[in-house]
Formats: sequence, C-alpha cells, structure tokens
Amino acid sequence: MKLAPATRVCLTNSLCRGQEKTYDSRESEPNRKSRMKPLYTQGNVQAHCPDCGGAVTTFEGRDAVHEFGTVIVNQPQMYMGAGYQRALYRLLKCAGCQRGGLAKIFDHGNVVNGVLIDFYPVSLENAAIPKAVPAGIAAEFREAELCAGHRAWRAASALLRSTLEKTLKANGYNAGNLQGKIDQAAADGVITDARRRRAHEDIRVLGNDVLHDEWREVTEDEVSSAHQYSQRILEDFYDDRPSVEAILIAKQRIQPPPQP
Ligand SMILES: [Zn+2]
Repeated sequence: MKLAPATRVCLTNSLCRGQEKTYDSRESEPNRKSRMKPLYTQGNVQAHCPDCGGAVTTFEGRDAVHEFGTVIVNQPQMYMGAGYQRALYRLLKCAGCQRGGLAKIFDHGNVVNGVLIDFYPVSLENAAIPKAVPAGIAAEFREAELCAGHRAWRAASALLRSTLEKTLKANGYNAGNLQGKIDQAAADGVITDARRRRAHEDIRVLGNDVLHDEWREVTEDEVSSAHQYSQRILEDFYDDRPSVEAILIAKQRIQPPPQP
C-alpha cells in the first residue's frame, strides 16, 4: 500500500498539528490512505511507536556493535498461500525512544528478505479528532482504530459505521435509516456532497456488508478509507462547533440553548 503523505503520518505528532488542514482540499484523491499496519524493509520495521506519541518510527534489529537477538524455529511455515523455511522472533529497538519491539518473520534463510507476520507493539494509528467530539463517539472511533491495529478489519469497519451513525444521531438526525441520515446532513449543508458520497461508499456500505451480508474478507485499504473519512466527518461536525450548531438549530435538528 502507498505511504501516506507526511501530513497524515504525523497526525498524532503535536509538532505536526499545524498542518492538519492541508489535506482537506484534496477530498477525492484516491490514494490518500493512512497506514495502519507495520512495514518491513531491510530487516527493520516501520510502525507507529506508542512511546513516541504514535509517530511512525523505525524499529531496528541491531546497533553498531551487535544484533539484539533472535529466536529461530527451523520448521516449514505457511503464510498467505506461500511456504517459508523457518520462523524468526526478532528483538528490535525503536530508533526514537529505544523501547523494544518483537517481530515475527518468515523467511527462506535470509531475514532481510523475509515477510513480517506479526509485530509488537501493536501499531495503532490514532487520528487527530476535535476535542468537542462527545466521549462515546470518540471511544467508538478509538476502538475501531484498536481493531485495525490488530488487523481485525471487519470489526473495525463495523465500529466506523457505528461511529458515523452515532455522530449523526447526536446531531439530531434521528429519522430513517443511516442512508437517509447521511443525505439529510448533506441537504442541511453540514457535510459537503463529496463527503456525503464518501460516507455512503466508504463507511456505510462497507459497514453494512459486514453487519448484514454473507462473510467476506475486508481489506486494510477499505478500512483505511473508512477511517480517513470517519475522521473528516467528525471534523465536519465538531471542528467549528458553533457554526455547525447554528445550522443544526436553524434546521431544527437540535434545540437552541435556553436563554438566561
Ligand atoms: Zn519510540
């Protein structure tokens, strides 16, 4: 999968917060995926480090003097339909904060050319969301990220759909099904038409597939898109909350605050 541009990768890094808005003008670009799973290159692992504020860092298997250590299991292994000669459990170290990590790798005798099967710490991407997002909705969104960090793509999809529906309900879109709620929010001007389409295609339909249809595999890319647009919808509703509330009151979605 393609690496996300720096403005996305650094969303959880406070130093990058000032750049968060730059992606909003590129709504329809199809390859703007957030990276959720660790990347294995040249024996190192690039992953979100929980002790580096969630920033993507490199976990390395050796320093200038020695390798940190590997447990090797010399038995044939299978992964994604391909066979491998052995499994390695390799100790790594974050180049940023020095914390440890453990990579499970299958290879044919050369670890650099192996494939990463599993990695600890779990690589979570915590996308920045506005502080005004209600606690229950924020928790639903974070649990979706937790599922994605464990590659539970179907569970993540269902929770992102739930995040969307809970957001709409919390803003007074109670009538009808989720499809209707999304369309009403767009008709009110709270979300753009482009965002409406993404909400349908990337979040609602995916979530419905998981909840209501026969089992099928959900891919990381699908979850990545749903995650990205869920975050944007949270921003639509909660970034400039006074303006959104004024629209919701004018459209009689929510009650105006009592006058003193
Ligand atoms: Zn670190």
